[in-house]
Amino acid sequence: MTSGVERTSGLIRLRADLHTHAMGDGRFGANAADLVARHLEGALEAGLDIIGVTDHDDLRPGLLALEEVERRNLPLLVLAGMEVTTDDGHLVVLGLQEPLKRWRSMNETIALARERDEETLLIVPHPFFASLREQTGIDAIERLNHRYGDFDVTREDIAVIASSDAHTAADLAANPKRTLIEVTEISWPGVIDALRARRATIVPAHWGRGD
Ligand SMILES: [Zn+2]
Ligand SMILES: [Zn+2]
Repeated sequence: MTSGVERTSGLIRLRADLHTHAMGDGRFGANAADLVARHLEGALEAGLDIIGVTDHDDLRPGLLALEEVERRNLPLLVLAGMEVTTDDGHLVVLGLQEPLKRWRSMNETIALARERDEETLLIVPHPFFASLREQTGIDAIERLNHRYGDFDVTREDIAVIASSDAHTAADLAANPKRTLIEVTEISWPGVIDALRARRATIVPAHWGRGD
């Protein structure tokens, strides 16, 4: 992992952005591999240790990002997922191996994701409505979303995070915040444990970069 990684009392502190779009507003097409490669390079330039690749209703960019990071042995932990459109708002699902269908209720989508694999992480992004801010059955919620602003989230039962919701590689660096995740190991199970134990805090983007 990157040299900026800090260890404190056995925990490793990693700078994460768990909700980003490698395809932007576009669709998966012939240039997908190039877009994914540029996205991962942007993540490294932004000083991230962990990136969630969560395109709209499409798991393919996330899976491609996993392949790319392994092939090039990049010092970045990629979490493949998707931002699923539900009848009640968007839901970011990380750790998927198979895509989830859109246009079901939020609760049904959550139940299906859990049934598919207990080792998925479920995040409510940009919670515009009170019902989303109070959504149960999830692992984390965004208080800050650099595309849509700050949300009045006061949850103490789940992790509260900041995401870029980047639609371009430049958006990754432009986000003034990161989610600092304290893991016992740099791995997908390590991230799951940390988020479920709420070892996640919102920090400035320059955290750990020595400026
Ligand atoms: Zn969204
Ligand atoms: Zn998004």
